[in-house]
Amino acid sequence: MSILIDGKKTAQDIKNEIAARVSEIKQEGGKQPHLAAILVGEDGASQTYVGAKVKACEEVGFTSTLVRLSADVTEEELLRTVEDINQNPDIDGLIVQLPLPKHISVDKVTNRIRPEKDVDGFTPANVGRMTLNWPAYVAATPYGIVELLKRYQIETSGKHCVVIGRSHIVGSPMSILMARNGYPGNATVTLTHSKTENLAAICQTADILIVAIGKPEFVTADMVKPGAVVIDVGIHRIADETKKTGFRLIGDVKYDEVAPIASAITPVPGGVGPMTIAALLYNTLQSAEKKVFG
Ligand code: NAP
Repeated sequence: MSILIDGKKTAQDIKNEIAARVSEIKQEGGKQPHLAAILVGEDGASQTYVGAKVKACEEVGFTSTLVRLSADVTEEELLRTVEDINQNPDIDGLIVQLPLPKHISVDKVTNRIRPEKDVDGFTPANVGRMTLNWPAYVAATPYGIVELLKRYQIETSGKHCVVIGRSHIVGSPMSILMARNGYPGNATVTLTHSKTENLAAICQTADILIVAIGKPEFVTADMVKPGAVVIDVGIHRIADETKKTGFRLIGDVKYDEVAPIASAITPVPGGVGPMTIAALLYNTLQSAEKKVFG
């Protein structure tokens, strides 16, 4: 039977550690860490995500500021808001909730965030620093996975790690982190995508399989080597009349058939997902304590 990699519990452990550190900072007469979030428009999912981040700030003793802008805000006005927060010495971290309306360039806005406050780890400066194995704010999802591997003491050195998906926010940074000289890392990494040939055969050689393809239950037992560690990043809502909500969440991995042959596996929900907010809080604390850029 495989080990269940419990992201919900690990995320709570991290939040408790952050809250304890914030108490110490306050006792030492220091300033509370402060996260600012910019939310553009009324998108329901974005409001839920930002709401959860603000609530998490309260839980650990951070100050938070939510700046709401209407969906028809100009790019220039949004850039000015980012710049104001860049210049505000009380604010340690800034996130701009995505997606943005089509008339605004995500790249332009991301690039305007001062790397020192880029706690989402999306700016070219932070991606470059991570790639060079310098101190950096690592994007929430890859950070969360690294932390799960670490806390569950999963051996990565010399192992073959296959990553499915090469998105900028998950697959690509994950491949870099697993290949870097450190722990977790020192793996031999294969990064796969939609043009990859013989994907199933490649997956069968993975000691660690990280799946971020965005296709419900894509990875089946016949694609997994017995004893592999399986990290499922996918999240999908599917209709389920037996649930009060009318839906349930599933991942990119067919959990019921893969779990019995894996040595360790993340469930959905309760695996990678809960780690993302913990990662954001961690990065904000790092910023408040000047741990990344000095
Ligand atoms: P994405 O941007 O849609 O990227 C999907 C990747 O999968 C792309 O690189 C794509 O290749 C590749 N792909 C598509 N079809 C493929 C195939 N048949 N064979 C091999 N590769 C294929 O997705 P994402 O943003 O990385 O997210 C992936 C999943 O994770 C989604 O379900 C998302 O909801 C979830 N997610 C969860 C969290 C969390 O906190 N747990 C965070 C972020 C995302 P190409 O590049 O060639 O198109």
